[in-house]
Amino acid sequence: MPLYKEQGVVLRSVKLGEADKIVTVMTQGAGKVRAVAKGIRKTTSRFGARLEPFTHVSLMLYRGRGQLDTVTQADIIASHRNLRDHLGLFAAGETMLEETDNVAQEHERNVRLFLLLLSGLRALDARPADPVSVAESFLLKLLSLSGFHPSLTACAVCGAPDPTLFASGQGGAVCANCAEHDAGSASCEALRMLAELAEADLMGAGDIHPDEQVRREGRALLYGFAEYHLERRIKSLPLLSGSLAP
Ligand SMILES: [Zn+2]
Repeated sequence: MPLYKEQGVVLRSVKLGEADKIVTVMTQGAGKVRAVAKGIRKTTSRFGARLEPFTHVSLMLYRGRGQLDTVTQADIIASHRNLRDHLGLFAAGETMLEETDNVAQEHERNVRLFLLLLSGLRALDARPADPVSVAESFLLKLLSLSGFHPSLTACAVCGAPDPTLFASGQGGAVCANCAEHDAGSASCEALRMLAELAEADLMGAGDIHPDEQVRREGRALLYGFAEYHLERRIKSLPLLSGSLAP
């Protein structure tokens, strides 16, 4: 199948040689695809700004023999341009792209992940008051989709209600009887906030307005859990928390 058509969201674009770029795209039907866009850095490029990160594009691609395909045509479906104009939205969007890139497999269809990313970027493009909550709700949904749904309202081991401790390696919140040595404390407010973010619609996640201290605690639990299970330090998380107003 030499030539194929796909829609996707551009996750990354890196320079290749003098004029070309390699773009990484989360597609609807073909999983994560890496492709060369030739001549994209020339001022006369027919691709223009169509292959910038965050952009939802319709693509024609030529299937390469190795890891890289070649983009032959690109048309914008949605540019999500608000994300480029506002640091808070940009930081939240960056974490979504990076987390998607972390869990997506090349040429392995994952329609639910593609649709989650698209709804995450759409929710940010609508300029929510609290983009960090939208990004955290997205992260919780991405963890669930990847098989790492954290237990938040009951002990991850025995199912007892109102757990007071948290251990990423045990699957989230745990009760005192089940907790292993490395479990840390977790307030019921922070666990409740995370449960609300996990449940929330992405478009509404920016309206939760948690108390700042609860939020800090919940965020530390969530990021620790995500890093533990996604097995890679998520580079943009410090940028995301840094974009929060003090
Ligand atoms: Zn237990």
